[in-house]
This record gives sequence, C-alpha cells and structure tokens, in this order.
Amino acid sequence: MDTSSSNVPVKRSHSESSCNEAYTTENLIQQPAALDSLPETAEVEDEMVRESVLIDVVWRGSEQYPLRIPKYATILSVKALLEELTGVDAESQKLLGLVRGQLPRDSDTLVGLGVSSGTRVRLVGTPLCDRLQPREGLSGSGLWESEMPPGPSDDAISGGLARMARSQVLSTDWQMQLQRIVEDTEIRVLNAPRAGRKLVVLDLDYTLFDCKNVSGNVTDMARPGLHEFLAAIYPVYDLIVWSQTRWHIVESKITLLGMLTHPHYKITTALDISSMLTIHALRNGREVDHQVKPLEFIWTRFPDHYCRQNTIHIDDLSRNFALNWQNGLKIRAFKRADTQPRTDTELYKLARYLLHISALPSLEALDHSQWHSYKN
Ligand SMILES: [Mg+2]
Repeated sequence: MDTSSSNVPVKRSHSESSCNEAYTTENLIQQPAALDSLPETAEVEDEMVRESVLIDVVWRGSEQYPLRIPKYATILSVKALLEELTGVDAESQKLLGLVRGQLPRDSDTLVGLGVSSGTRVRLVGTPLCDRLQPREGLSGSGLWESEMPPGPSDDAISGGLARMARSQVLSTDWQMQLQRIVEDTEIRVLNAPRAGRKLVVLDLDYTLFDCKNVSGNVTDMARPGLHEFLAAIYPVYDLIVWSQTRWHIVESKITLLGMLTHPHYKITTALDISSMLTIHALRNGREVDHQVKPLEFIWTRFPDHYCRQNTIHIDDLSRNFALNWQNGLKIRAFKRADTQPRTDTELYKLARYLLHISALPSLEALDHSQWHSYKN
C-alpha cells in the first residue's frame, strides 16, 4: 500500500491488515479541520482569567501559595490542590478567611461564597507524612504530581513500536485483576458517549499540563494549545481522561484547568488510579512491577462505543501501554513550564495527526510510535 501521499505511519502492510478494504488513502481525511478556526490561545486565557480569582494561601505562618483558581471551583477542589502543594490531606484541612466566622463546606464554590481576588486564606493542617513518620520522612510537596511511586524510568523508551515491545508482560493474573476492577469500579459519566466517534484516552500529568509548575497559575500549567487541541479533535473523538491518582485530585485538576466547562468540547468521563492494575513485566532486561492503564476496562464498560479498533491512548509514559501497545501514542513529557519559554508544539502537531487518521474505519493497522514523522 502506498502511504507516501498520506504520510501516515503504518504498522503492517496492506495485505497483513485486518482492515484491508477499509484502509486506503481515499478513506483518509484529505483536509483536516482547520485549527485556526478555533479561539486563539490568548482569547481562551483571557476568558480563564476573567472567570477566576487569585487567592493567597498562607500555611505554617510563612509559606505562601498564590493560586489563580476558576471561581466556580468548589472548596473541595481547592483543598485537593492544596493537598498536592502541602501534603496536608484534604479531609483534615481547615481554610480560614473564606467565610467570616465559620468554615466553608466542601461543596461550596468560591463564587457562591463571594470570594474575590486578593483574599488571604490561612490553611491549618499537618501533612499526613508528618503524623506518621519522623520529620526527615517529609514528602508530598510535589505540586500536583501523581501520588504513586514513578516506577521504572521511562526515559530510555524513545519511541518505536519494536523498541517498546521489549516490555513483556509476565503477569498471569492481570485478567483476574481486570475483571475485579470492571465489576467494582464506579464510572462517573460526565457526558454520554456519542455514536460513531472514536476515542482518545488522555493522560494528565506531563501530557496535558506540567504538574510541577510552581507558578500557582493554572493557565501557565496547561500545555500550550491544550484547549485548542481538545476542541479540534472533539468533533470526531470522544475524550476520556485517565490519571494515576485519586478521583478528587483528577476532578480538581480538570476542573481548575477549565476542561469541564469549555464551550468547544466535553469530557466523557475521567478515570483515576482505581481503574489501573499492577503487572509484573520484563522491561529493558529487568523484571519490574508497575501499574498500567488497561484499555480493556473502557472497552468492557462501553462495549457499544469503544473498542481496540477505534481507541488511541496518549501518554508520556509508555509503560502505561503495556497491555495495549498498538493503541498507545507516546507524547514528549511537558515539564519545567515555569522556567522555559512556552514553545511546546506537541499538541498542535498531534491534533493534525489525529484528525488525519480519524476517518479510517479502523486504527488497528497504524503504528502510532511514528506519529512525529507525520507531516501535514
Ligand atoms: Mg503522565
């Protein structure tokens, strides 16, 4: 098969593909949707600033966290963010200064409480690690970083399906784990799956935003082009966010980033660590245990909409693809956004790639590891 005109990387030859009839260049979108028809980044950021308040949180007398937060965020979302910043778990936090003479409820919103920019808030609470361990064991100050240990380094994996395939799953019990997760895990559907749409599963940390950006400004944490990217692919892809952390942290992140209220796209659902499972694998010559995001979980829970043939999983950690290598698309990690110029263009390039392949009846023949080689 001649793919030179489309420049879409393929995994197998035409004769080997299970989608022989469907997989022709005629089926590819000839003119991907225009990205420039979408709102400008500055426009979206201006809107976010208008819809947010700047509060100054003080902890332990001297530690200050200036936070720009959407005004419709709940107190629980604010606490979830502060949990990542300080290590004080949300349940034990007390926020003084938001409401005169009383503590706000977790369900209250900033706008509902009449909180305005410049409000000074005092956080009272002790990090869980301080309560359980000696002082030198203090940890948990990473801003919005995933809570689980990082596992084996992913840096050595630079792309290429053949190279990634060196990770070999040794576990024999993952299907039992999966069955248990499928049966026990609650899914909160935010927006119903749409008929005929493919699915993009999106990691959060270092894929869509820099969770260690210490500027305290949510807009600066977002990867350049975040909202334009999601709005561009939304007409043809449903969107599911999957992050290796607890639900209230995931919810807080996507709320504060403005991903639940954006006018040009909707998130189908967000999944947390409870939907992940641990495997034993041979990786780069070493036996390791690590967590993965099993797409079978989604396919089993949404059998009428999503399947192996119409799903792409985008993540900066390729180990998360261990059970679904072909569906995985590794994106460069977005880090140090607070000190580097905002020149990252990954999401713009990725939007073009995803739009270009979106008309294929099946994505199963593609090798997403070569997506950077695609030129529009
Ligand atoms: Mg990540």
